[in-house]
Amino acid sequence: MRESQAHRKERARAIIDRLLVEFPDAVSELTFTNPVQCLVATILSAQCTDARVNQVTPALFERFPTVQDFAEAPVDELENLIRSTGFFRSKASHIITSCQAIVDRFDGTVPSSMAALVELDGVGRKTANCVLGNAFGQPAVMVDTHVKRLTWRMGLTRHTNPDVIEQDIRSLLPESLWLPGTHALILHGRAVCKARKPRCATCSIRMHCPQIDVRASK
Ligand code: SF4
Repeated sequence: MRESQAHRKERARAIIDRLLVEFPDAVSELTFTNPVQCLVATILSAQCTDARVNQVTPALFERFPTVQDFAEAPVDELENLIRSTGFFRSKASHIITSCQAIVDRFDGTVPSSMAALVELDGVGRKTANCVLGNAFGQPAVMVDTHVKRLTWRMGLTRHTNPDVIEQDIRSLLPESLWLPGTHALILHGRAVCKARKPRCATCSIRMHCPQIDVRASK
């Protein structure tokens, strides 16, 4: 039987409430101290672990402390500093051109709106949501690989397009839970609801997850 939106909302709320008991301080694991560092670290985190990014950024942020510094960065030097995060050529290009645009169009200040952020080179909604939520404290829904997988498994979306999943999550949860809720989903995805072998037997939200019925009937 098709689940009603009201029931799905109740279930989503119960899932996030439970996960926030387990991960009460769920925040981004990227290390940064200001919006431009958040933007750069988020660009570097594409197809890379946060831990790896955090190994690279201390030297990077010391060498290029401001938006202006990134905008004027020698590309070879920047590529070398971020090489271990993978896709370093395109990431270096995105960092430099984004920061040039911030200098030219936003007076050197990272913009704090979705519309402006997605105009920057290499910045899609996921990166923009990370910056809005983590650097500016705005309500934001970050759909990374974990959120995508978990919301599908939990039956909170029927879609695979991250932008549509983002809208589904927005419709299911109150604004105040968007940011902590997605951080908690990410942590649950890393620790329990893993891509290859989800630990359903010990999962704390199994009573809210349709995967349990699916597995039991196999
Ligand atoms: S019951 Fe299994 S599939 Fe469902 S959220 Fe938990 S680990 Fe993931």
